[in-house]
Amino acid sequence: MSFGLVLGLVAAAGAASTTLVTELAPDVHFIAGTFIEGRQPDGNSVIFGAPEGLIVIDTVRHREHTQDLLDFARESGEPIKAVINTHWHLDHIGGNILVRQSDPGVRIYASSAIEDAMTGFLANYRTQLEDLIVSATDRPEDQSQFRTELALIEAGPQLAPDEVVTRSGPRHIAGRELVLNLETRAVTAGDVWVLDPASGILAAGDLVTVPVPFFETACPERWAMALQELSDGKFTRLVPGHGDPMSRGAFERYRTGFSRLLACADSERTDEDCADGWISDLGSLVAEADDQRVREMLRYYMDTSLRGDPANVAKLCEA
Ligand SMILES: [Zn+2]
Repeated sequence: MSFGLVLGLVAAAGAASTTLVTELAPDVHFIAGTFIEGRQPDGNSVIFGAPEGLIVIDTVRHREHTQDLLDFARESGEPIKAVINTHWHLDHIGGNILVRQSDPGVRIYASSAIEDAMTGFLANYRTQLEDLIVSATDRPEDQSQFRTELALIEAGPQLAPDEVVTRSGPRHIAGRELVLNLETRAVTAGDVWVLDPASGILAAGDLVTVPVPFFETACPERWAMALQELSDGKFTRLVPGHGDPMSRGAFERYRTGFSRLLACADSERTDEDCADGWISDLGSLVAEADDQRVREMLRYYMDTSLRGDPANVAKLCEA
């Protein structure tokens, strides 16, 4: 049984990228996630300066990437006062543990969806990891990756929020006003996206992921509805969960491509045809070098989600 690309162990091709802190607007910084062959991905992070300290959107998975966040905070001389987790996937929340160690006063905001994930998806993944550790005795490097991953899940309560986001609306966090929006049953059972009215920057989490959407825990139909809500948000620049920050125009290309991908999956057209459509709809958002892996990932998601087990998808869509 495979848990796929986001939380699982399918190696992805792609160039290694070095971490880079980019200033998106005054007091708003972006740290790019990674998607490197043979390793699980890291999501993107956004850091907002606030009167009382820093607000970090997503703490990512790998220790060295979380360390970049901590180094940024140290250099700025500000404590991390708040973390907002867009959703419970480990490539977005794994670093909560390190941040809690370095900044014990931090408050973590997220939806309550991790509770069910801990007894469902992540419990299954844990069992899978335990089996993999046993079977990888002759591959110490793999084994060490599995152990690191297992340790994240075992840290359970440290990953969970201190402040559960139960509805959409403006919030004062560390003295800065941000608008937190809750989507239920989209990428996961509870996704939070964040709009900063001062800068016009929107942190979308995995509601927007390039080069392909990750469907492992998703309700595709409701995800498409959530994209409509993002589109209604007053933003000028959008930071996706994976991939480069994008303009409104680029986001609209993504949204159109997403709807058309779902429509294609519902039609008689072939998987290959649907992948062609996605690549053509997204245009320059999908790098030419990614063509092959995009096709592989879409084929995988056609099998497991879009054209896969309808009962499983229906369960993910249950309100
Ligand atoms: Zn992700």
